[in-house]
Amino acid sequence: MAKKDKLTEALKKHFGFDTFKGNQKAIIENVLAGNDTFVLMPTGGGKSLCYQLPSLLMEGTAIVVSPLIALMKNQVDAMRNFSEEDGVAHFINSSLSKSAIDQVKEDILSGKTKLLYVAPESLTKEENVEFLRQVKISFYAVDEAHCISEWGHDFRPEYRRIRPIINEIGKRPLIALTATATPKVQHDIQKNLGMTDAAVFKSSFNRVNLYYEVRPKTANVDRDIIKFIKSNEGKSGIIYCLSRKKVEEFADILKANGIKALPYHAGMDSQVRSANQDAFLMEQVDVIVATIAFGMGIDKPDVRYVIHYDIPKSLEGYYQETGRAGRDGGEGHCLAFYSYKDLQKLEKFMQGKPVAEQEIGKQLLLETAAYAETSVCRRKVLLHYFGEEYPEDNCGNCDNCLNPKKQVEAKELLGAVLEVISTLKEKFKAEYIVNMLVGNETSEIQSYKHNELEVFGSGQDEDEKIWNAVIRQALIAGYLEKDIENYGLLKITPKGKEFMKKPVSFKITEDHEFEEEEEEIPVRGGASCAVDPVLYSMMKDLRKKLSKRLEVPPFVIFQDPSLEAMATTYPITLEELQNIPGVGAGKAKRYGAEFIALIKRHVEENEIERPEDLRVKTVANKSKLKVSIVQSIDRKVALDDIAVSKGLEFGELLDEVEAIVYSGTRINIDYFLNDVMDEDHIEDIYEYFKDSETDDLEEAIEELGGDYTEEEIRLVRIKFLSEMAN
Ligand code: ADP
Ligand code: MG
Repeated sequence: MAKKDKLTEALKKHFGFDTFKGNQKAIIENVLAGNDTFVLMPTGGGKSLCYQLPSLLMEGTAIVVSPLIALMKNQVDAMRNFSEEDGVAHFINSSLSKSAIDQVKEDILSGKTKLLYVAPESLTKEENVEFLRQVKISFYAVDEAHCISEWGHDFRPEYRRIRPIINEIGKRPLIALTATATPKVQHDIQKNLGMTDAAVFKSSFNRVNLYYEVRPKTANVDRDIIKFIKSNEGKSGIIYCLSRKKVEEFADILKANGIKALPYHAGMDSQVRSANQDAFLMEQVDVIVATIAFGMGIDKPDVRYVIHYDIPKSLEGYYQETGRAGRDGGEGHCLAFYSYKDLQKLEKFMQGKPVAEQEIGKQLLLETAAYAETSVCRRKVLLHYFGEEYPEDNCGNCDNCLNPKKQVEAKELLGAVLEVISTLKEKFKAEYIVNMLVGNETSEIQSYKHNELEVFGSGQDEDEKIWNAVIRQALIAGYLEKDIENYGLLKITPKGKEFMKKPVSFKITEDHEFEEEEEEIPVRGGASCAVDPVLYSMMKDLRKKLSKRLEVPPFVIFQDPSLEAMATTYPITLEELQNIPGVGAGKAKRYGAEFIALIKRHVEENEIERPEDLRVKTVANKSKLKVSIVQSIDRKVALDDIAVSKGLEFGELLDEVEAIVYSGTRINIDYFLNDVMDEDHIEDIYEYFKDSETDDLEEAIEELGGDYTEEEIRLVRIKFLSEMAN
């Protein structure tokens, strides 16, 4: 082995790693040489090290702009772990006290501090600017740099002020880093930071170990997800929902179904939030249900699945969120539930925002829809979106590649699309082109009088869906290009022009049909509910036997569709059997016994999970008040304090808590009981309820006599009911 070079030695010395990952070394060399640097590297790629190591090797302090307070704290802690000197890294943000800030400043001026993390808001504060002007700065790093662009998934206006402030403080080399950037976003960032000449280091965005899957979101989505989680027992997973309300609701539903899950969103009390995050990191719970607020900077290497309950607002967001699965290179199942209705809802939310912003939001959504609906390799589509070409035909690790749809020739169709685009001088978006093809007289088309053109309606033999598929796949194949700067106008590439002169074969796959509720996409792991062929044939044999014995034709016993239904849903009681089409009470009684015995044996021997077993328990329709009470109790807030904060009498609060317990939610109020009651008293009352035949309060009061107050009895009864009944 070659002797280690200096940089690798420094890596080992400061961070304990033996080798650099990916582009790290070249990036660090570029920073050390004092050049501007732009880094595109997927989540988990090791971006932090690209500025941390040079900061230690260079003279002065590196200023790191980073968007989240929590993130900063983690990074500073991590840096301190590597160093003997606590002052080596600091952060300045709004959470620090005046005296803490003074300490930070002292360390910086004394030269101890190599890295200073600042939030953009703090960077722009006059007093900080004043201070930083006296500091010797080695370089600036802008982490999560996609926040600069409105086209990114997490735009923050204050990020756009970084460059002017840097100019005020004093120009030094700049390194910008992000895990997601389409070519458009990358350009935005470089332009805004005034670093168009920067050396760009782009790692591949391909995450080979991630399995991408999109399923239609039906009314059964809760059930689908519960089933998925149960078949992945003991593994860690994240479920993303778009609203805080949904996060809370769904976390409750999961808990009610015996899954260890906790919610996480920005609206929660910060203590609970970080406790929940820790519980997930420490594997006290398997699942975290979260809004996208969760995950930035979360470094749990073995998240085995990421589920999108709602379709994300952009593919950047989706990529970033799915990127949290399988960071250790192991299994990572990315499952998204898609419905067109969700998309429309999201579009509606945007109304009321400035028009330009709406337009951007809509374009981003359309890209997400295209991704969800496509039957092309998902990896190919995603990577194309990030400006990367994926050359393989079949990635072998997405739903579309595992269940490829038949390709159909679309040479003529592509010709027609190109014809329309060229006739319209490449000045329109996909939607408009499709309307022209199918002959849809929108008011826009009328105002341009385009309905009078020959190409208007030239594609009316095919429907919109096909045309969308042709256009999307022509984009991927490089016949067309989207002019993102101009909100997605379609342009014909040189390859497209070549095609117009000399058409060649162009095969496409039709998009998935998502509007029909019941479409069944074959799923990895066989979650689809197809007929069990083994059971089906055994039942046919049984029917034959019975038919001989009873001397009736087989169909008189049960008809084929009934047997098929049985081999799908596995009824094992006479009641369940009567739910099968073609089986009434009479038939069930007369012929059913042997069938259900057979099914039962089959189910047991093969450990089959019956759909009936999976009936999802819903959480009792709890009002907001009840939900909030349960949360406070989970947080171990004293019950009298809860009552005060909700404006309730203590008795009224107990009414609510009792209702919660009676509806089947289990809560634990021991923390409070142990605080306000004697242990013996609790035990006495508890024992009483154990032996009693009724939970009636009056009777309990009478029976237990004057030793206990009504409130005490009610409190212990809550404990008892929660532990026994639920
Ligand atoms: P990113 O910011 O790109 O998502 P991080 O900087 O958080 O990634 O790094 C991800 C993980 O990779 C961290 O646990 C980090 O310690 C680790 N890591 C970074 N560089 C190396 C390296 N050269 N060798 C081994 N592990 C590394
Ligand atoms: Mg990072």
